Amino acid sequence: MYIKYSNYGSYKIKCYLCLMNFSSRLLEDAVNEISRLPGIGKRTGLRLILFLLRQPKNQTHNLSESLTNLVDNITHCQSCFNICENKLCEICLNPKRNKKIICVVEDIRDVMAIETTGQYNGIYHVLGGKISPVEGVGPNQLNIGPLIQKLKKEQVVDELIFALSPTMEGDTTNFYIYKQLDGIEIKITTISRGVTVGNELEYTDEVTLGRSIVKRIPFENSLRSTS
Ligand SMILES: [Zn+2]
Repeated sequence: MYIKYSNYGSYKIKCYLCLMNFSSRLLEDAVNEISRLPGIGKRTGLRLILFLLRQPKNQTHNLSESLTNLVDNITHCQSCFNICENKLCEICLNPKRNKKIICVVEDIRDVMAIETTGQYNGIYHVLGGKISPVEGVGPNQLNIGPLIQKLKKEQVVDELIFALSPTMEGDTTNFYIYKQLDGIEIKITTISRGVTVGNELEYTDEVTLGRSIVKRIPFENSLRSTS
């Protein structure tokens, strides 16, 4: 076995991860794959794989099959871009939901957080992220175009609610969409800022989030309060 070194500052230290001497190629492959996940290093990856090997075989098979089914069959709602299994998601298909109110969110975790509050009966539009010049994310990489097209074409929506997290990227995204809707007759509101600046919606407690949706304010008022 050879020892590989890594540069660390001006010192050379032994790279212990490189010293992992796998007894099986199958084990090494599995650890390499699982350690691609965010926050999972090789050491944690090895611990997880050994756990999977220790548990009954059928449980690991179930995990493997559910992941295969997920990636093979999951898709995005053609209307709101929520994750679903058919052309339209259950929220868009539900006749009891008010299709005249659209809540704009960053991703599916925000849909789940708002649904948990039980305070919202409209539909959603999932952007898939926020405009972030620092991370190289522009409007064209998000589902903003389809939203603008939908609002211009159908003209049946009464209200658009911005529910992005109150960060600089969230504010930039709200303002970009707001400018794109110039000339379209539609009420634009934003959830009230009971949500602390920098907090993501999914981490906000459901009472606070529910209240901030019910007590939403005209978007133009929020512009005045931040300028
Ligand atoms: Zn949908």
